[in-house]
Amino acid sequence: MSDAPLLVFGPRSLTYDFGPSHPLTPRRFGPGIDLLRTIGADPELWIAPEPATVDELLLCHSPRYLAIVRRFSEPDGDPWADAEAGIGAGDDPPFLGMHDAAASVAGGSLRAIEAILRGDTEHAFHPGGGLHHAMPARASGFCIYNDPAIAIARARQAGKRVLYVDLDVHHGDGVEAIHAADPGVLTLSFHESGRYLFPGTGSVAEVGAGEAAGSIVNVPMEPGTGETAWLAAVSTIVPELAASFAPDIIVSQHGCDTHAWDPLAHLVVTTTAMGAAARLVDTLAHRWSGGRWLATGGGGYGVYRVVPRAWAHVWLASAHREVPDRLPGEWREKWAAESARYGDPTLPETFDDEPNAGLPPTETQAAAEDRSRQTAEVARRLAVPRLVREAVDRGWWSPLGGFAGSAEPTDVSSSTDGGAAPTILDRTDRATLDRLEFAPRLVAGLDPGAVRAILDPRRLDLTVAIAGALVVGLVASAGSSQDGDGGRSLLAVGVSPAWRRQGLATELLARHVGAFDSATAWTATITAAERDPVEPLDRAVRATIARRLLEQSGFDVQSAGGEIGRADHAALEATRR
Ligand SMILES: [Zn+2]
Ligand SMILES: [Zn+2]
Repeated sequence: MSDAPLLVFGPRSLTYDFGPSHPLTPRRFGPGIDLLRTIGADPELWIAPEPATVDELLLCHSPRYLAIVRRFSEPDGDPWADAEAGIGAGDDPPFLGMHDAAASVAGGSLRAIEAILRGDTEHAFHPGGGLHHAMPARASGFCIYNDPAIAIARARQAGKRVLYVDLDVHHGDGVEAIHAADPGVLTLSFHESGRYLFPGTGSVAEVGAGEAAGSIVNVPMEPGTGETAWLAAVSTIVPELAASFAPDIIVSQHGCDTHAWDPLAHLVVTTTAMGAAARLVDTLAHRWSGGRWLATGGGGYGVYRVVPRAWAHVWLASAHREVPDRLPGEWREKWAAESARYGDPTLPETFDDEPNAGLPPTETQAAAEDRSRQTAEVARRLAVPRLVREAVDRGWWSPLGGFAGSAEPTDVSSSTDGGAAPTILDRTDRATLDRLEFAPRLVAGLDPGAVRAILDPRRLDLTVAIAGALVVGLVASAGSSQDGDGGRSLLAVGVSPAWRRQGLATELLARHVGAFDSATAWTATITAAERDPVEPLDRAVRATIARRLLEQSGFDVQSAGGEIGRADHAALEATRR
């Protein structure tokens, strides 16, 4: 298997063209693809996109919408026809051959994900893909057909669980909407807040509903937020969700309209930070999704100064190559005149940018970043299981490495029937844990190797249920982070699937709480993050079970308040003393 990613680009990539004055211009492929070629992307490894079939488009779009797109694509189409299904003057004007061009973008992402699913390649990069705003029956935001959503649908047909990471400055609303009801797809979008920017959605309170509650995650940022706060949010939340969601494949959208120089939006991200984000996704794909990673482009309207460098960073990350210090001189000479003609007389000299894109820090920016950090923390509390969050915050575990034991999940549930009554062990120590194996999904979707590492008896107290030498249930708690007041936080209650519905969690929790002084003050917060991401129950059922479980161990349970409660109406806060 080649170490270089499959690159999706061909003549049809240039046909997705809304006209000369439209910001999403195929002019970006000239300097963009040329830079990839110059730094080593071998055209032998490229695949040229061809139109997806109607059946493939119907995976995510309605028949009526396809008919409308086709009608607008005809040579005898009326250029003054009324807008319909989002197609008309403005963001998504009709053009000759629009259906074939848009279907080819979808076809490119489909062929790429199929190559990954077959194991022909680990990584693929489709710079012309990432049309994340297209809705099932409506064009939106320069997007006719939703190629990332269609590629994800193909992976779902193959039974694969998908983590979708959207780094574009605009909310990935179409992908989110199309897969909102599917608990097997987690959509995670970092974007400029919808209060200030198209499409106006993507608040932290969009968390999903029913069985899929917790499978939508949004991290809206304030205008003016810079690379440090943006990358901090990405670097915290993406690894934690990659670890806890158990994806089989990661699909990421690398729109570079987050850049400080982008004309359409207001974040202050750099190509340096974009490159770091791409490398992070690569690392996570190898650690948590068997290496399977499809990257797409997306928005980005700095055609000469930003898009080529952003694409190069994604390609270099997926090819596991170092970032060269300087842009190739031949590339700069070749594109300087065209860039100047379109208003950018000076091309950058390096792949990376100066810190903060060379802008002086201001109080306004610092205030925006503070607000963005707070929002990111709310998103994290809603989406990341508490044990994972606390282990990361308190520094005893990282989803980026340092894991003990096997990285491969050992599937032991199928070989054991769960019939024999498990034995409960209090205050489990390291020596005992080291003699035991772990049944699947004791802590969200963490694989058994990660569970072994995160359950550090020096950091937390642990009560486990064992069947033979297999841990089939656990309760974990730690001292409250507040200055050693003797209070305790409940971090996890988990029972592996084959041993559920036998009252084991209730027994474990009662035993765990009973092992501490009766005057101990306990706290617990239960959000949509606390779930089995592979076989999640309906959100309301989950809340009922959690409430009953806590009450049976003497907790006083309330609906959660504040931003958590506003976003996740079933979230609970519990105390016991
Ligand atoms: Zn890789
Ligand atoms: Zn965008």
